[in-house]
Amino acid sequence: MERHRFCPCLLFLTTTETRAISLLKTLNTLLDKRVGGSYYGRRRGYMDWFATAACAHGLTLIDCLNKARVAYDATRAKEEAEQRARDADRERLRTKPEARRAYLQEKHLRFHGEHLAQFGEVGANALLLLLASTEPMSDVERDAFSALARQLDDDPLEAEATPEPVPQTWIDTEAVASLVDVYRPQQQARVHELAHRYGEGPALHRDRKQLADGGLLGSYSWDSLEERAKRDQDTRREQERLRLIYLARREREARQRKHEAGLAARLAHGRSVVYAIVDNDELRICKRCDEVVYPPEPERRGPGTYQTPRQPSRCHFCVGSELAAWDSAYQSELEYVPGKRLLGGDLTLAAIDGLMDDHENGGGRL
Ligand SMILES: [Zn+2]
Repeated sequence: MERHRFCPCLLFLTTTETRAISLLKTLNTLLDKRVGGSYYGRRRGYMDWFATAACAHGLTLIDCLNKARVAYDATRAKEEAEQRARDADRERLRTKPEARRAYLQEKHLRFHGEHLAQFGEVGANALLLLLASTEPMSDVERDAFSALARQLDDDPLEAEATPEPVPQTWIDTEAVASLVDVYRPQQQARVHELAHRYGEGPALHRDRKQLADGGLLGSYSWDSLEERAKRDQDTRREQERLRLIYLARREREARQRKHEAGLAARLAHGRSVVYAIVDNDELRICKRCDEVVYPPEPERRGPGTYQTPRQPSRCHFCVGSELAAWDSAYQSELEYVPGKRLLGGDLTLAAIDGLMDDHENGGGRL
């Protein structure tokens, strides 16, 4: 009996009192079925009772210790296995840039300081694009990723920027510049391809300009490029429709206003002299998107009756309201299907021909 006194002591050390009492009750329920008896009393009574109960179930001190040891060993083994797994993860993240990048994406790494800004706006853009990409890395990208990783905590599992930006080395600078040199033509090619497919709307126009000016599209612009290009297609189609309507309208106006150009000028240069007068009156150039702004469509009041021409107040293309005076440098864009600004696929040549016929039929020398 005495040797079993150790059992409840051991249990009270390794678990809470509440649990021990609960266990005692449970054991007693089992025991009660065999031997019966009261089990409420002083705590000391419980312990004595439990020792008896343990005896009744055949538990010895060695059993108790062994059980405790097994649990301890299992915990130790689990901790060691976890540590080994963490070390293996670190090693994998250190040696495989793609894996590390995927991990950083999963952990939503954000830079809040000058870590990337020190590479300039374009360089920082390129690094963020690289960080957001899921494509396998090229050699240039791996080098640039090393530059980015130098701005991160030494422990790759931390997925955090260093507390302070790490000044870029010459190698970092070169790596980021090379990345920009690779990304820009890629973006230009993509913008060109989309412009070919959907026509160049204000978004693609702005992107193309930004790239031509030595910039780089940011992650958001880059990811939404096709979606924005599709949206632009409708705008471009409308712009083209306005252009053709204007040409027909200008033809009519020119006939009505031919007296505004002197006879000598008309004889020397033909209709174009009067066209220039009408263009100057009715067209504007949008300062924001660099598009020709056409006058609002005249409202039809009856067959062949048109409202007095109004001047445009807003750019249809980008809704900008800062408009500049007409500039004859845009004349070829106005009169010919512009080469650099491609049409959307749905605007068929037949539709254009129809409108052009209207324009041409009123022709002839003034
Ligand atoms: Zn505009």
